[in-house]
Amino acid sequence: MAEATTVPTTGRAWHLIARPAGWPTDADFALREEPVRAPRAGEVLVRNRYLSLDPYMRGRMNDAKSYTPPFRLDEPMTGDAVGEVLASEAEGFEPGDLVLHQLGWREFATLPARYATPLPAAGEVPVTAYLGVLGMTGLTAYVGLREIAKVREGDVVFVSGAGGAVGGVAGQLARLMGASRVIGSAGGEEKVRVLTEEFGFDAGLDYRAAPIGEQLAKAAPEGIDVYFDNVGGDHLEAAFDVLNLHGRVAICGLISAYNATAPQVAPRNLPLILGKRLRVEGFLVPDHADLRPTFLDEAGRWLAEGKLVHRETVTDGIEQAVDAFLGMMRGANTGKSLVRLDG
Ligand code: NAP
Repeated sequence: MAEATTVPTTGRAWHLIARPAGWPTDADFALREEPVRAPRAGEVLVRNRYLSLDPYMRGRMNDAKSYTPPFRLDEPMTGDAVGEVLASEAEGFEPGDLVLHQLGWREFATLPARYATPLPAAGEVPVTAYLGVLGMTGLTAYVGLREIAKVREGDVVFVSGAGGAVGGVAGQLARLMGASRVIGSAGGEEKVRVLTEEFGFDAGLDYRAAPIGEQLAKAAPEGIDVYFDNVGGDHLEAAFDVLNLHGRVAICGLISAYNATAPQVAPRNLPLILGKRLRVEGFLVPDHADLRPTFLDEAGRWLAEGKLVHRETVTDGIEQAVDAFLGMMRGANTGKSLVRLDG
């Protein structure tokens, strides 16, 4: 089968070399040169172009039983990536094809072609969209609102982590699904400006400037019907306080706890779940892969019509990937966090 002219023999990959306690540090990771294997029958060799950085990766750094297995020490970490096929021993894949796959955190990857999703060559949608707004990120926002919170016409919706990848899309989708008012929270003045001026939120709350509970109560005098939670802790407590009777909560993520070394105290108002007959449901996007075609159809159309906008924070160079990951966990990103590798 077709073979590209330059196939490398080695490439760099990030290994986890120690399990972080609390916030990870540079000493927990190593960028190592390793052999690149030529593809065998049914496989492709891919040069990664973009790596996705996602908060769930922090959980995989712990040696704990969870919904995804821990990263193994002294091996390349994994994650979503978009790459270009360099060599192929698989039917239907040619050098130059762009694919979405899960062997991120490295420059080159050899994998069975069945684990590589072909992407459109070029077009109106940049390939990075398949890691963000049209990828796992966008699908997460869609599932949380459609399947879990079941957003209805006229709902007042609150989204936390709204300046980030999932939250920024969730706020916009909530509006497109009929919400009458969309409130978002994020850290810092500039992110809050993006919420209202670029993503079309009705109100943006800077949780670093004042307690989120006080701000949310003021922004939602009539209460909220839906809370899309990316943060947990004090944000979840604030939402329980203002949720209306029969309110719905989609627990998407609890990032305020991901680097915690002790159990969190908030939310302290759990009895409200009973009193207000709230429905609180956690979800994981891989369980909802069946919704992908409908999501791509609907969100793809909104994107093409300019009704859905997306932001990316792109860091250049594989050597910056760990710093970019830690930066994302601290809030340095607006929209989807990506690492771009040299082509
Ligand atoms: P992201 O929002 O782009 O980046 C993480 C953001 O979290 C940071 O930018 C930071 O923004 C915020 N943050 C960090 N610590 C915080 C704290 N203590 N309080 C409030 N905000 C804090 O990441 P993402 O990929 O879109 O993920 C967002 C959430 O969705 C995460 O909780 C993630 O685990 C979850 N998720 C769940 C699924 C699923 O299947 N359930 C799938 C994908 C993602 P600020 O500057 O605003 O602090």
